[in-house]
Amino acid sequence: MPSSPPAPPATTELEEVLADVAERSRHLAGEGEVEDQPEELPSAESTRFALALAELDGTEHVTGDADVGFAVQSVVKVFALTAALRLVGEDLFDRVGREPSGDPFNSLVQLEHEGGVPRNPFINAGALVVCDVLLGAADDPYGAVAGLLGDLVGEEAAVDDTALDAERESSALNRAIGHLMTSFGTVRHPVDEVVELYVRLCSLTVTTRTLARASRFLANDGVDPRTGTPVLTEPLARRVNALMLTCGTYDAAGQFAYDLGFPCKSGVAGAVMGDVPGRFGVCAWSPPLDEKGNSRAGRAALHLLSERLGLSLL
Ligand code: GLN
Repeated sequence: MPSSPPAPPATTELEEVLADVAERSRHLAGEGEVEDQPEELPSAESTRFALALAELDGTEHVTGDADVGFAVQSVVKVFALTAALRLVGEDLFDRVGREPSGDPFNSLVQLEHEGGVPRNPFINAGALVVCDVLLGAADDPYGAVAGLLGDLVGEEAAVDDTALDAERESSALNRAIGHLMTSFGTVRHPVDEVVELYVRLCSLTVTTRTLARASRFLANDGVDPRTGTPVLTEPLARRVNALMLTCGTYDAAGQFAYDLGFPCKSGVAGAVMGDVPGRFGVCAWSPPLDEKGNSRAGRAALHLLSERLGLSLL
């Protein structure tokens, strides 16, 4: 007879684990640097810290600043990819690869060597191609992603104007990446439109709690457990997880897989969102980043959580 899965820890035990993990990891934030964030945003405050876990049955466990809003930044690439897969399916991968890049998220170098085809949808070049695909395939490209995020969370997703202004001002490199890809034919819409969609999506406001909730469809074979709505087919949901595991944390993805062992996606505002298939969505947030651009304390917290709860899939 197949052995039954271990009983999940009781709610109070999970709360205790979360509090203990937070206690043991938040001080690591002090060893990292907050990435150029407008100083009025909470993501500029180096002492912010939160950890949230959202079970498939809707039970949520949080500790710290779990309801403080910040710009989603690169974590939105998961929802942009999902929206594009819903529209064009795996044809998307004719224009963007599925290999880790081993380079920083905004690198131009590899792109030139590889004929303008980005390695994966989670580096900036790949996310810009995903935006280009959305511009071609969706009636409302912004709404295809923001609406999806809003549905998964259960409340409307809105852009933070302060974050958006800052993103627009610092978009020179993303524009350069867009123009390079235009010259190779990978980007087909005007670069201004592609980058504007990308920066608006990066500026959507989320919280640690809402990201943990929003990632649950990936832990649930593509079905949103809140509403029962299929978001992606099961094979496509597994593929998004595979891409997160191998490419979701920039050029530290190998180390994340080694330490945490479950799919994650990080962003420069300090969030690391993950999911543990069959169990829950999870998110850690702490703005100071390490040299690879991942939240220092957030990464430590998820590593500890993985060890304490036996979360590694590997
Ligand atoms: N706004 C950022 C950029 O494109 C998002 C990057 C990130 O979170 N890594 O440069």
